[in-house]
Amino acid sequence: MQLNVLVLPGDGIGTEVTREAVRVLERVASRFSHSLKLTGGLLGGVAIHKTGTPFPDATAALAQDADATLLGAVGLPEFDNAPPSQRPERGLLGIRAALGVYANLRPVRTYAALIDSSPLKNHLVEGTDMIIVRELTGGIYYGTPRGIEGDSAVNTMAYSRPEIDRIARMAFELASKRRKKVASVDKSNVLECSQLWRKVVTEVAADYPDVELEHILVDNCAMQLVLNPRRFDVVVTENMFGDILSDEGAVLAGSIGMLPSASIGGKKPSGAWVGLYEPVHGSAPDIAGQNKANPLGAIGSVAAMLEYSFGLLDEAKAVTAAMETVLNSGRVTADLKPAGPPATTEQVGQAVCDAI
Ligand code: NAD
Repeated sequence: MQLNVLVLPGDGIGTEVTREAVRVLERVASRFSHSLKLTGGLLGGVAIHKTGTPFPDATAALAQDADATLLGAVGLPEFDNAPPSQRPERGLLGIRAALGVYANLRPVRTYAALIDSSPLKNHLVEGTDMIIVRELTGGIYYGTPRGIEGDSAVNTMAYSRPEIDRIARMAFELASKRRKKVASVDKSNVLECSQLWRKVVTEVAADYPDVELEHILVDNCAMQLVLNPRRFDVVVTENMFGDILSDEGAVLAGSIGMLPSASIGGKKPSGAWVGLYEPVHGSAPDIAGQNKANPLGAIGSVAAMLEYSFGLLDEAKAVTAAMETVLNSGRVTADLKPAGPPATTEQVGQAVCDAI
């Protein structure tokens, strides 16, 4: 298969973790005989330095041409007081909008070697493996009217059938390649938006007879995530509920350096989902340039790319299994508090490649 990937290392540790993620992608391509076309581009502070803008037109064009984009992180302390349009973070919003990515996917997976760093009791969290699918471009964060007038304020939650239909289909497609379970989260006992959400999700479910659908109220879901996270496979929900639940999900897995994310849009003519893959963490100026950053969030983002954009499940599993091997070896970066001397970013990347 041809894998056509744009790489945007960005700033700070973004460049370091992306270097390792790319090495892993190259290793997967050679091990599974795929042809890999990598293109490099500028985003964030580095783009401001070189072109005067955080999201150059050339980067937008490259992103349109690629099947998937791998992003490191953006942000440099020297821009902390710059106007919003001249901040590296504006590049992130720019590329998300340009790609039209309307779904944010957060895989939540616990690794045996990290189980003690979860805030939950080991027996509760062990074996957790879910994806939270959050609608990213609608709902109360975007609805109008909105504003504050004197002592009154208003926000509007609004959803339309097409917005719900497309995110529901994404959830069902993901579930059909996993354990075939979708939990749709809403507040249909109170909100009309949620009543429409539930109706449309139920209708979409009819097209996926092999996937089991469960509706769950958001307050109950928040509770179930800590009581029994293993019961979930794919969780789909609207923007604000997803914002809150995905952070709750994130802490189940431990260190921020471990967490991958994927933002997905429509399908390319090739059948690949348009996708932007990045670790959840930022550019970490405090450890940048020291070969200390944990690259596993970025490497996990490669696994997500292989699974969601290219449908390469065996390849994605090979990456996550290699990550697990490295975690079990104990040769990990300082943030994971290894018993012995910490490994460098490069050593962890190399160890993952060796394990694939
Ligand atoms: P951060 O995620 O960069 O760092 C928070 C803490 O976690 C730091 O102590 C850092 O050393 C540690 N850390 C983060 N990633 C790590 C890794 N892979 N391995 C080991 N330790 C890791 O968040 P911050 O300090 O609030 O922000 C720094 C800059 O990054 C800011 O400019 C911010 O705007 C930007 N940022 C960008 C993104 C993004 O690109 N998606 C996300 C968050 C923050």
